[in-house]
Amino acid sequence: MKQRILVVEDQEDNRRIMRDLLVSAGYEVIEAVSGAEGVEMAASANPDLILMDLQLPLIDGLEATRRIRAEPASSRTPVIAVTSYALSGDNDKALAAGCDAYFSKPVSPRRLLAKVEAVLPKPDGEGDGK
Ligand code: MN
Repeated sequence: MKQRILVVEDQEDNRRIMRDLLVSAGYEVIEAVSGAEGVEMAASANPDLILMDLQLPLIDGLEATRRIRAEPASSRTPVIAVTSYALSGDNDKALAAGCDAYFSKPVSPRRLLAKVEAVLPKPDGEGDGK
């Protein structure tokens, strides 16, 4: 069974890049275009992993991650923050908000897939048991 990744990203071009990359790598991709929708789908659509853009209008990615962590249905789902500025302190803020890892734009396919594989729980139950 394919592992399901929820991409929360407000920019259509970035969603397309990540969707094409993840689908061609064999993942199922579902998408949310706002923080509120991301919080809702994290709880209702049972993703194995969430890629969370931090720069979203209204409810930003940090607040959305806090809400995902506060919701029992999604509190243990891994979240990778997608940050825009590697040196702005966003990375530390992402970890403080409950993200498991971060990844900075622009999206490098090789780095993104490596990060996803490192954080995604193993589908067959082997591995590190996280
Ligand atoms: Mn954005």
